[in-house]
Amino acid sequence: MMGVNLTAYNQLRAETEAHNARLVAVSKMKPVQDIRALYNAGQRIFGENYVQELVDKAPQLPADIQWHFIGHLQTNKVKYIAPFVAMIHGVDSLKLLQEIGKQAVKNDRVIDCLLQVHIAREETKFGLDEEELRALMPEALKVQGVRMAGLMGMASNTDDENIIRSEFHRLVQLHAAIKPQDDFCELSMGMSGDYRIALEEGSTLIRIGSLLFGARNYASKH
Ligand SMILES: *Cc1c(COP(=O)(O)O)cnc(C)c1O
Repeated sequence: MMGVNLTAYNQLRAETEAHNARLVAVSKMKPVQDIRALYNAGQRIFGENYVQELVDKAPQLPADIQWHFIGHLQTNKVKYIAPFVAMIHGVDSLKLLQEIGKQAVKNDRVIDCLLQVHIAREETKFGLDEEELRALMPEALKVQGVRMAGLMGMASNTDDENIIRSEFHRLVQLHAAIKPQDDFCELSMGMSGDYRIALEEGSTLIRIGSLLFGARNYASKH
């Protein structure tokens, strides 16, 4: 499928707003024309996974786009996105958070950060476990240049709705249990395949790629 699915977009927006959540349009590996088409339909938050791709695309697009970085971020690449990135979803170490803070301060900015929690059964996913999260939180709150805005998680890649729901539910409960301050209010969970469950469980940010932009062709890049 080519181009942007505006019918899906309008429906997703309505569903997201009905749950007081926000939609992150995940535009990784999609051309700037597609991003512009969705921008013209009203979308302002876009998510990207790769630093170089984000740095290439952002200057070609309107300045009021809020760019969210949702991929695995390497410490040595933070400096390239720190001047403009609005939110970083996948922070999974204090070292990375400190580098984000350092680069944010250099740019006179505050960057919203979400800590990524490992909630899926699969071993391969990135993220902190509960113990690591609890240990990191007091230190994280001391870092200048970042705003600790909440948690992010990815459920298991399975058709079993009960497993997905229970994993999201665990993230919600963990979030409530460790919430250090009122503005630690975001829960980034839910993708094309499981966003409805995520919204029902209390997601505030769903990250949707393929439903909006069509399937990605990984063979062509990365
Ligand atoms: C690619 C990606 C998404 C979007 O996935 P879709 O299934 O295409 O909606 C969401 N979150 C993360 C972290 C991703 O890497």
